[in-house]
Amino acid sequence: MYINYSRRDFLKTTALGVWAASTGGCLQPRKIAGKHPNLVFVFPDQMRGQAMGFLNEEPVITPNLDRFAQQALVLPQAVSNYPVCSPFRAMLMTGRYPHSNKVTSNCNSNSAPFNCELQETDRCWSDVLKDQGYSLGYIGKWHLDSPHRPFIKCRNNSDKLAWNEWCPPRRRHGFDFWYAYGTYDFHDRPMYWKTDAQRNGFHYVDQWGPIHEADQAIKYIKNEGGQFRQSGHPFALVVSMNPPHMPYKLVPQRYVDMYKDKTLDELCQRANIPAADTQLGKYYRNNIRYYFAMITGVDEQFGRIIDTLKEQGLDDNTIVIFTSDHGNCLGIHNEISKNNHYEESMRVPFMIRFPGKIPARRDDFLLSSPDIYPTLLDLMGLKREIPTLVEGNSYAQWFQTSRGDHPDSQLYMWCPVGKPEWGRRGLRTHRYTLMISKMPDKPEEILLHDNVDDHWQLKNIAEQQPQLVNQMTAELKALLRKNRDPWLES
Ligand code: CA
Repeated sequence: MYINYSRRDFLKTTALGVWAASTGGCLQPRKIAGKHPNLVFVFPDQMRGQAMGFLNEEPVITPNLDRFAQQALVLPQAVSNYPVCSPFRAMLMTGRYPHSNKVTSNCNSNSAPFNCELQETDRCWSDVLKDQGYSLGYIGKWHLDSPHRPFIKCRNNSDKLAWNEWCPPRRRHGFDFWYAYGTYDFHDRPMYWKTDAQRNGFHYVDQWGPIHEADQAIKYIKNEGGQFRQSGHPFALVVSMNPPHMPYKLVPQRYVDMYKDKTLDELCQRANIPAADTQLGKYYRNNIRYYFAMITGVDEQFGRIIDTLKEQGLDDNTIVIFTSDHGNCLGIHNEISKNNHYEESMRVPFMIRFPGKIPARRDDFLLSSPDIYPTLLDLMGLKREIPTLVEGNSYAQWFQTSRGDHPDSQLYMWCPVGKPEWGRRGLRTHRYTLMISKMPDKPEEILLHDNVDDHWQLKNIAEQQPQLVNQMTAELKALLRKNRDPWLES
């Protein structure tokens, strides 16, 4: 159905025309997607998939996620295929793997000379929804722009290495409400650019980031004063919280206090945590209480957001997703953080609720990050709008029925900055994780883990299982060939 144009719509359409011209796209009449559902997409940063109370894998307190899991499709085997910030975010937004969307590393001043940022020409799912008449809001961390000189004067940016950058409106891919930043890790005094703020017009807030962002999300959902979105139009809102990202101790004491009855031993039940007298063992023990406390704080804010949907009578026609951009090892496997093939890094929470459309259940489905975009559009009744350049697959049918196409592996990748032909590639199946590392100055390294017999991934069985390594390497190469990954040539 096409709408009658008001002057306001005409002006917006004109702006859309400029966008369409600048991206080589065709200008289509704006449509109202009256029957299409709303979307609320919440993703904290660096929350490992194991860290949700109801899974009984970690002693973490998450009453809201536990309750939500009863109403949602829960995919405990979902991964971040390139488990670090910007590559995940670009796969999420474009539905394409890093070599196609150009975000082959984190966006910062080191990768900036390699054009490593979300491309204006990519057609994101948010661009598609905008053209369908959706209102779109983005709150929190974006991290898809290269910093350029003079760098924004703030923490996270030094003269030698800068992370944070303003996202100008032309690069927002349809989001018309903006309350966001690039990269800023100081959760107790976060900074934001509002929709109309210029590059030097950011502001600081004396409130814990997730609480403030939930406040903004609630206002957006309620559309307070009619100022946040177009009433009568469907909306899509992304809330991208920074915790449980480091620095871990920047968390309100009340969430830490919720763990005061738990001893350190009770918090450190994973059998692969390094010994207490090692450097990384100490690091884990110094931080895990705060990491869990942050997750509990995020859980509370997520609960506030979904309670608002219910209060507003919107929960029946709103798809809600809870996930994360990657996990976190916190010292496990000698890895201080993420960006590796281990379970603590790759596995992310993934829960989707769509009442009456997606039956609540738990499923070992092997979801990959680029699949989120086409699956979402398909679930929203917009399958025909999925751009042909999208490389992920729609698994809407599986989400709705547990029948139909489903993958039997997931890709893993990491590239050195500016050298996408090198680095690590891998394949994760229902049982195994294979990782092959190729670096210009080192011999090739192959790791194979049996995640069933060796749940904690403590043994490399590559030498004992040459046939399996060959078979999985062939499957890996077939996937990489589809993505035209230059690693195959190195
Ligand atoms: Ca991140």
